[in-house]
Amino acid sequence: MYQNEEIISKVIETPDGEKDFQVRYIRDENVGIICTPTDKSYFLLDSADYWYDLIQEKYPPVMKCSCKNDRFNLVFDYMPREGTEDFREINITCSCTACKKLKRFPTIEIDYSPSIQLFEHPITFCKQPKIKYKTYSLMGYWSDDELVVMAEYFLEKGLFVYCWYWDSQNAKRCFKELSETELRSYLTGNRRYLAIYFSTETFDNIPTQIAYDGKGVAISQDIWRKNSIFMLRGLYMVVSRGIFYQMEFCSEYLDKEGNIVPKSASFCALVKDFQKFSKKLLKK
Ligand SMILES: [Zn+2]
Repeated sequence: MYQNEEIISKVIETPDGEKDFQVRYIRDENVGIICTPTDKSYFLLDSADYWYDLIQEKYPPVMKCSCKNDRFNLVFDYMPREGTEDFREINITCSCTACKKLKRFPTIEIDYSPSIQLFEHPITFCKQPKIKYKTYSLMGYWSDDELVVMAEYFLEKGLFVYCWYWDSQNAKRCFKELSETELRSYLTGNRRYLAIYFSTETFDNIPTQIAYDGKGVAISQDIWRKNSIFMLRGLYMVVSRGIFYQMEFCSEYLDKEGNIVPKSASFCALVKDFQKFSKKLLKK
């Protein structure tokens, strides 16, 4: 039934027959949520997988038409992938309920299979769109010595160490597990990296947030939120002070239904212990 190249369009309607929506959309991520006049919220497509991670820093505003109206009707256009039951891309068009002006979101490329569920369930009910959970972030101009002591702490606890870096020779982002010696040279030398991850699990078990694009490996900035990971990044450099670092981690996360779920007891204990340890270490 889906094995043709014709676009299949679907007018978005809730099970209660509501068709006018307020829209909150994160364009860069193609993730969004819609809200009906009776205040019921629905995730667009597979947005539930990403929504809660993305809204922790900034809650997207309600989209407005240039006529100031903020209600839209939505149509999803599905482009089939020839010879399969999958879809190649989906385009979302919103039309203003007042002036009928159209707004089109960036094309959503679908690179996984099966994808038929995105057609059968274009929107999924969301009980609570706005939930925050506690995350931790350590920041500061840390010295090489401080970084090494922190790294030694994680090595002693038996964590795996991974590095995401820019390989300038091949002009590609790369990713690898680091030995203790390599880790030291990354932390104290001038070897640049995008992020270093201290993880209680091997990354083989968490492939979903590691993708490949034209410039190599792309790792989600939020990979530490659901996984048992401490993520270290050098955010920027100030000439007189050095590199400004950030370490991000958390002991709980939100599942697709919006429930706050604690991570494993051992990781929660590690988070507490690391907080105590780093407080002592970084006390000036
Ligand atoms: Zn309008």
